[in-house]
Amino acid sequence: MVWVRAAQGGIALQHNNEQPSSRPAYNGFDGQYIAGRWIAGTAGSTTVDRNPYDDSVLAEISQASLADLDQAFHAAKAAQGAWARTLPSERASVFLKAVSVMDARKEEIVSWLIRESGSSRIKAGVEWGAVRAGMLEAATMPAAAQGHIIPVDKPGKEARVYKKPVGVVGVISPWNFPLHLSNRSVAPALALGNAVVLKPSNDTPVTGGLLLAKIYEEAGLPAGVLNVVVGSSAVIGDAFSRHPVPRVLTFTGSTPVGRHIAQVAGESSLLKRLGLELGGNAPLVVLDDADLEKAVGAALIGRFMHQGQICMSTNRIIVDASIYDRFVEAFTEAVKTVKYGDPNDPHTLVGPLCNDSQLRNVTDSIARARQSGFRECVSGPIEGRVVAPHVFADVTNSSEFARHEIFGPVAPIIKAANEAEALAFANDTEFGLSSAVFTRDEARGLAFAQQIEAGMTHINDITIHDYPHVMFGGEKNSGLGRFNGKWIIEEFTTDHFISIQR
Ligand code: NAP
Ligand code: MG
Repeated sequence: MVWVRAAQGGIALQHNNEQPSSRPAYNGFDGQYIAGRWIAGTAGSTTVDRNPYDDSVLAEISQASLADLDQAFHAAKAAQGAWARTLPSERASVFLKAVSVMDARKEEIVSWLIRESGSSRIKAGVEWGAVRAGMLEAATMPAAAQGHIIPVDKPGKEARVYKKPVGVVGVISPWNFPLHLSNRSVAPALALGNAVVLKPSNDTPVTGGLLLAKIYEEAGLPAGVLNVVVGSSAVIGDAFSRHPVPRVLTFTGSTPVGRHIAQVAGESSLLKRLGLELGGNAPLVVLDDADLEKAVGAALIGRFMHQGQICMSTNRIIVDASIYDRFVEAFTEAVKTVKYGDPNDPHTLVGPLCNDSQLRNVTDSIARARQSGFRECVSGPIEGRVVAPHVFADVTNSSEFARHEIFGPVAPIIKAANEAEALAFANDTEFGLSSAVFTRDEARGLAFAQQIEAGMTHINDITIHDYPHVMFGGEKNSGLGRFNGKWIIEEFTTDHFISIQR
């Protein structure tokens, strides 16, 4: 399992024995990738792609206009039919080649993730592994999209259900796990015979889009099957969501933008299917019989990995009153040892926040906690966009501080009188993405997990898990639809009932 093994204990293995790639580094990240060509965007404006740690300029990218966007969707539509008719093994081989590109260029890719998205070296290694695993899973999908022959109550009648690609898939991805969250849609969509137009976040135009295009181009993906548009959401965002060509749109990002996109997509002249992976407010519940040390370690990684900017990050730590004081003390001591600062330092867990609006959101959260008078157990400096880990105890579950998705290195600890109150607290949120419960009694943990209103619950582990063959998704305002494995095959294919009368 890629995520947790890397996060807990396997960290050192992530970054030793790096072999420098013998291939020349990718270049030419200055425009759009449309119809297999690297071309200038025609909006007349530029995305200046900066390193959030030191503000150095990584790329200057001419932005896409509405005409470029339209061209990208039509290029995808034109390329899709021939791609869908390739043999399953031909499509699978593109993903196997992409895996070897990932291997050959590991340090180049990890370095981009560190420089462009503020990923610590630890997190960048985890993300690289998640993308690689997603490509291996995608290689199994061309042969896994299977139809049915179904008995019906009529002599001589045969009912068949054929499974077909949907056509073109539109993908909008965020900046926090840009390469992985783009690839999590792109790889299965392509593997199933669809063509794709991808719009990365302007904060991560390379790792969210153009770099992925380079990898698939090197792996032999035909021109036009994957297109990347980089541009301002204010200019091309609504046109992307409303465009009649894509039959399915997947969006990974915040709940307000997801709602907006759903509304705009509903105005499209052709109805489309929507997959929404949105915000979270994951509770990690520590019951009275928990292994305290394991719970502390999981809460620490679950909160502070990627400076808390993960949809599954542990946003609330809810602890049974009988072990509350011991937990707060142990967690406080552990958090004081977390290394923050330069993301390129292999020991750093907390690097810079991705952008200034993120920084404002996180400093607002800290201010909110202080105004409420919650006990500040750990605090530290804010230097540039690096916010030192903060811990607040005695937080009330109903406070604004606890109801918000903090998306930063700030941990609220909440005391629950007993198991029933812990469950009520866990569920008292508009979100329902991930969650975790700690107990030494597996049956108790399972019964508790089954009552949590979330798409994902982990017993005795961190809240952050994403395996390419296991369902991923949320309830309530955390989203619609399911990713990964056989679930994403359903999202990115459509069924055609064809009957034969003999
Ligand atoms: P965001 O502001 O919603 O942006 C996500 C993407 O949408 C970016 O590519 C953004 O581009 C684009 N966008 C913004 N406005 C748009 C519009 N009107 N039309 C079309 N596209 C538009 O989210 P974020 O701040 O980048 O990411 C953080 C949020 O994502 C958190 O809430 C987190 O929980 C959630 N998230 C969820 C998952 C999940 O799997 N459930 C995974 C990761 C993150 P620009 O950035 O260029 O504006
Ligand atoms: Mg940047």
